[in-house]
Amino acid sequence: MPGSSLPERPAGLWAALAACKGRPLFWFFDIDGTLAEIRERPDLVVVPRSRRMLLQQLSHRPQTVVGLASGRPLEDIDRLIPEAAQAGWPVIAAHGALVREGRATRLRLAQDAIEAVSQLGEEIRPLVKEYPGSLLELKTGALAWHWRLLDPAQVPALTAALDRLLRQYPSLRRHPAKMAWEVRPYPGPNKGEAIEEIVRGRAGPDWPSAACLIVVGDDATDEEAFRWLGRRALSVRIGSEATETSAQFQLPDPDALEALLALFLAQF
Ligand SMILES: [Mg+2]
Repeated sequence: MPGSSLPERPAGLWAALAACKGRPLFWFFDIDGTLAEIRERPDLVVVPRSRRMLLQQLSHRPQTVVGLASGRPLEDIDRLIPEAAQAGWPVIAAHGALVREGRATRLRLAQDAIEAVSQLGEEIRPLVKEYPGSLLELKTGALAWHWRLLDPAQVPALTAALDRLLRQYPSLRRHPAKMAWEVRPYPGPNKGEAIEEIVRGRAGPDWPSAACLIVVGDDATDEEAFRWLGRRALSVRIGSEATETSAQFQLPDPDALEALLALFLAQF
């Protein structure tokens, strides 16, 4: 187990978790930057086995639901964390555009929004080679144009090219992601709304008092979820930068989250 980055316990979070005792616990985790370290390319990302095992142990506790909430497509999530499909954990893909519970998958996005995104993707595709190192990732109802490996001097030109295309798509907006632009429908689904739907479905309309919800994430769409859920959830941001966050608690990196989960499993 990584020993470096936690173990000063985030006292507030610990007390809040202790106060959840006796109530059903819902945990929702983002993947990239939360359960997995960010890599140069999204296809290089892995979720270490040690963390997947902790999630599994967590899900085996009584009255506990483990869910995933990622911007990635469902296929990616199943490849990164195969336990989710095997055990039927609730999975939110594409930032809330798609939800899978058990074997049922439902789309939370209008068909025309999905088509607009895929049409824009077709227009971006030929531009990708003009920005060497940039990478287009198509998702259901969203796309990401990554520029982690692009010469930083070229990023403004890529952004301008994207904005020129976006003028023809008034229903789409670009959002900052980690070394990437994300394009999503506006107003679009958000992770927070999708999480709430799942928890309400299982814990009933009084879920904010009947259950405890813990949401963990590192990026802009997680911040949207933190804001959407407000005080109805315990929100944990993963990241060491001093950026503004709507989360109530913060841990520096995925290793720290892993350490926290191990400690939680050992002590609660
Ligand atoms: Mg993330």
